[in-house]
Amino acid sequence: MQELEPVQRALVVSPHPDDAEFGCGGTVARLVQAGKEVFYLVATNGDKGGRDTDMTSEYLLNARQEEQQRAADVLGVSEVVFLDFGDGELEDDHAFRRQLVYHIRRLKPDIVFTTDPFRTSFYIHRDHRMTGLVTLDAVFPYARDRLHYPEHIAEGMDGHNVDEIFFWGSENPDTFIDIGDVTDMKIKSLLAHTSQMQDWIKEAGGEEAFGERMKAMSKRMMENHNSPYEHSEAFRRYGIRRMMKEMESNS
Ligand SMILES: [Zn+2]
Repeated sequence: MQELEPVQRALVVSPHPDDAEFGCGGTVARLVQAGKEVFYLVATNGDKGGRDTDMTSEYLLNARQEEQQRAADVLGVSEVVFLDFGDGELEDDHAFRRQLVYHIRRLKPDIVFTTDPFRTSFYIHRDHRMTGLVTLDAVFPYARDRLHYPEHIAEGMDGHNVDEIFFWGSENPDTFIDIGDVTDMKIKSLLAHTSQMQDWIKEAGGEEAFGERMKAMSKRMMENHNSPYEHSEAFRRYGIRRMMKEMESNS
């Protein structure tokens, strides 16, 4: 995992409970195995997810936080923070950005994983679009510049530079992480999201069949991206430090 060797701390910003595991669960497992620290921010409580008509928002709210915590425990995530915005209610606004900046300054990650907000050829859920977009802005320049949200600085925090963002769900990924050794862990973390997976598990004919189906689906997707690995996760890297250097040398 040469690409992630210099990383010490990583932050995953996920729109709903379960998006992190789909997008980068294998990479998270590998980072933790390599002795790195990984933190989760989950933007919404996921209280409207699922197709089951018997499911109430109140039930989902409690169940999904518990499921997300279990999934994170499977992968060895150090801390899960629930920002508790309503499902489908994320906006590109101060309330959301301030929270992201706060936790970026507090946790000081070298890299941030989130969902790619820029896609032209297929639909992105609104919460995913908002999460990618607001995370990008929160990382740069808001978390770095001390005059943004100075109340954090008054609390004793400093501005923080993130080196890179890794976007999952990208149309044009440029980085592939080999997750061959940890695919079973990734499947196990997905299975922790019982309320979201139960229909799929039933449809597939059990947990094992579900796991095989997930692996096959992911493999096909990665083949379309020309991944060099049998099992992998794909990202578009967005180098903040590199971009800053280029801006400085052009000015
Ligand atoms: Zn989602």
